[in-house]
Amino acid sequence: MSTKAAAPAPGAETSGDTYLPGHGNGGYRVRHYELDLDYRIGPNRLAATAVLTCVATQALSRFSFDFGEFRVARVLVDGRAAKYLRRGLKLQIRPARSVPAGAVFRVEVRYSGNPRPVRSRWGDIGWDELTDGSLVASQPVGAPSWFPCNDHPSDKAAYRVTVAASSPYLVLVTGNLVSRYCSASTTKWVYERPEPTAAYLMSVQIGRYDDVELAGGAWVPESGAAPDGVVQRAAVPPRLRRPFERDFARQGRMMDVLQQWFGPYPFGEYVVVVTDDELDDPIEAQGMSIFGANHVDGRRTHERLVVHELAHQWFGNSLTVADWRHIWLNEGFATYTEWLWSEESGGESAASLARFWHTRMRSLPADVAIGDPGVARMFDERVYKRGALTLHALRGEIGNPAFFALVKAWAVEHRHATVRTAEFTALADSYAGRSLHAFFAAWLEKPALPRL
Ligand SMILES: [Zn+2]
Repeated sequence: MSTKAAAPAPGAETSGDTYLPGHGNGGYRVRHYELDLDYRIGPNRLAATAVLTCVATQALSRFSFDFGEFRVARVLVDGRAAKYLRRGLKLQIRPARSVPAGAVFRVEVRYSGNPRPVRSRWGDIGWDELTDGSLVASQPVGAPSWFPCNDHPSDKAAYRVTVAASSPYLVLVTGNLVSRYCSASTTKWVYERPEPTAAYLMSVQIGRYDDVELAGGAWVPESGAAPDGVVQRAAVPPRLRRPFERDFARQGRMMDVLQQWFGPYPFGEYVVVVTDDELDDPIEAQGMSIFGANHVDGRRTHERLVVHELAHQWFGNSLTVADWRHIWLNEGFATYTEWLWSEESGGESAASLARFWHTRMRSLPADVAIGDPGVARMFDERVYKRGALTLHALRGEIGNPAFFALVKAWAVEHRHATVRTAEFTALADSYAGRSLHAFFAAWLEKPALPRL
């Protein structure tokens, strides 16, 4: 079920992705990003330097990054001025000397401008202004809205991000805060993200937020400190503090339960951000989830979204799709975790939710094969719900002990790696002790909805 892309031509402006080949580039891998951002909130003005440490996978006389509409002041490759050209969402670079295959090379890009989201078939995504601050939500192609990158999930790298912004604002970057320097008007925040991270999962959140302890704080009645010490924090507008504290009261317990199911939480801290503006949907970032003001009402109406985003820390963020066609490995697992959590927390059972959604899916056209839904339907509801139904049917097929052992092994064995559907079905075969080929062909490869 997986396809192996042909090796790209030197400097090719393609990732070889079956759905989004124009996003991501060939000829190199990025090992580390160092981003130094100076951001003015009012005028939405960014002045930045990005240093990318890359490894050439072939000899390179030129190469490209994905990059938005910024003014580029200079590009250096290994300290030497390089020629460059901005074309659409690509920054083409021709180094003074070709880079030999296998060499580690360093590219510095100095740039400035007004960051704005990337236009896509899924709307405007990436760096966006809030009423008072900004947010970054990049899945799947928004990362070039704020830094030059190899924008494909199969190229995961480590990051160090420094953001200087006006002092009254809280600045959160996906990573561990390593230092903070305050002057009278400006605060410089330094974050490090050591775990391999796809560019679309990097995020910056800026707002006038309260910094709230989520687990271990006295006000969280049901959580207490997480047993493994995962620090869970939140950034919340002061006006939403009370309803937030009720809606996220079970966050600590949720973290414990998901670790029992899927193995250790893959990152350092877990940070929840609630923006003061409304958002269409919550979104996951690395070690972070972002919710809109409309997802908080003090009645736990949206708790399924809280657990959905947390589940993405394992499925999507730690285990990242090697090609966008495998998207059900993110959304099917996150959606099924909603159903498991519902049952675990005393709500409707997973079986009952599966029956409900199976009936609902039967009323929709059966024209999506969720193992390869097509780019237009990557984020179709059927990929989410039929993905979850596939896992529920698999659980029925192989039984609870094998199913839960499989899911945990899947998350642990592929921790911080990239994944394909064929790898999951092969692992499932080994936990079932037999071939599940016919089962997966029916659920993943054929558009017709199988019986539950
Ligand atoms: Zn999701």
